[in-house]
Amino acid sequence: MSSFFKFKFNNFLDIAKSPEVFDWMISIRRKIHENPELGYQEFETSELIRSELDKMDIRYKHPVAITGVIGFIGTGLPPFVALRADMDALPIQEMVEWEHKSKVAGKMHACGHDAHVTMLLAAAKILKKHEKDIQGTVVLVFQPAEEGSGGAKKIVESGVLQNVIAIFGLHVAPELPVGEVASNSGPILAGSGRFEAKISGKGGHAASPHKAIDPILTASNVIISLQYLVSREADPLDSQVVTVAKFQGGSAFNVIPDYVTIGGTYRAFSKQSFNHLRQRIEQIIVGQAAVHRCNATIDFLEEEEPSYPPTVNDSNLHEHFVNVAVNMLGINQVNSVMKPAMAAEDFSFYQEVMPGYFFMLGVQSASHKPSESSLHSPFLKINEDGFPYGAALHASLASSYLLKHQQNMHHAADSKYLDEI
Ligand SMILES: [Zn+2]
Ligand SMILES: [Zn+2]
Repeated sequence: MSSFFKFKFNNFLDIAKSPEVFDWMISIRRKIHENPELGYQEFETSELIRSELDKMDIRYKHPVAITGVIGFIGTGLPPFVALRADMDALPIQEMVEWEHKSKVAGKMHACGHDAHVTMLLAAAKILKKHEKDIQGTVVLVFQPAEEGSGGAKKIVESGVLQNVIAIFGLHVAPELPVGEVASNSGPILAGSGRFEAKISGKGGHAASPHKAIDPILTASNVIISLQYLVSREADPLDSQVVTVAKFQGGSAFNVIPDYVTIGGTYRAFSKQSFNHLRQRIEQIIVGQAAVHRCNATIDFLEEEEPSYPPTVNDSNLHEHFVNVAVNMLGINQVNSVMKPAMAAEDFSFYQEVMPGYFFMLGVQSASHKPSESSLHSPFLKINEDGFPYGAALHASLASSYLLKHQQNMHHAADSKYLDEI
C-alpha cells in the first residue's frame, strides 16, 4: 500500500468511531430498526437514505428498481467502484424487548439490513469528507428486496452499474466478535433455487387401488429418486443439497386423491452443478411419475422469486480485501479462509456481471447467547459497536481500490511508452 494511501485514508476507522459519526449511525440504525419494511416496500427507508444523502450533498439516482437509491461520490468520472447495502426486513415478529423494538407487528430487521444501510451511509459520510482525494467515483448501491425477490437482479437490469469495475458488499455476522471479519476467495455461498411439482394420477376409493392411479405412492417414489442426485450423481467434494420440504395431498383416510404437490429447494456452489441439478430434478420428477402412470408438471417459480446464483468472490478482490482489512484490523482479526455456507445471497447477481466481493462483519452481542446470534431469528441482537468497522472498511475498500486501479493504469501507460521506445 502506498504511503499516499496511508497518509490520506488511514484514519477512516477513527472517523467512524468518533462520537459525531458513531452517535449519528446509532440513531439512524434505530430509526430504521423501528420501522422495518419488506422487499420493494422500503419507501420510508429509501426516503431516509435520500434525506441523509441530501444533507451530505451527495448526488443520487432514484427510483432504481422501485425503492433503490444509487449515490455517487468523487469525480463523477471512471473508474467506478460500487458499495452495496440491502434495505429490506423480514416478515418476523421481533421478540427482543428493548427501547427500539420494531413498531410494525410481524415485521423485523432480523437479517441486519438496517445495519447495512447505516454503515453504507456512514461510509458515504467518510468518503464525502475525502472527496477531493478519490481517484474516480464511488457508487453507493442501496438495493431493495434481498430476501427472496432478488432486488440485486433488478438493479443490474436497470443498467445503472454498467461501467462499474468492482463491487463490495458485507453482511453482519452475529456469531463473529466485533472488530473481526471473515471471507474467502471463490464460492462462499450457494446458488439457491426452488421447485414445485404437481403429480397427477386418478382418484378413487382407497379399497380399490387397482381402479385408481395413486399419486401419493408415485410422489413417494419421486422423492426417493431425488435423493440419488446428491448421493450418487454429485461429486462428493462438490457440496450440493436437494431437499423436498413440502408434500401435500389427500384429505381422507379412504380416498386416493387425484393429485399431490411436492416442493423444495436445491443448492450448489457452481453454476454448472446448479444448472445440472435443476435439469435432473425435472427429468426425475417427470420420468418417475411416468413410470407409475402419473403426469407431472414442474415449476421453478422464477417469476415471483428468481433463483440466486452462487456467491463467488473474485480472487484479486480477495487479495485487496485482505490487505485493507489486515491493515485496519490486524492479522488476527481477519479470517481469510472462511468455510462456505449453503445459504444464498442476491449479491451474486452483481458478481454475474462484474468482479465482486462479499464478506462477513462481526457484530456479536456482548452476552453472545446462541438465540441472539442467529440471522432470521426473532431474538437477533446486533452489537452496534461493530458498525464503525463496517463503515470504515466500506470506505477504505472502495477508495484504495480506485487508487490502486489508477496506479496500475499509470504503470500500464508507462510500460506502453517504454515498449514504444
Ligand atoms: Zn436474510
Ligand atoms: Zn441478509
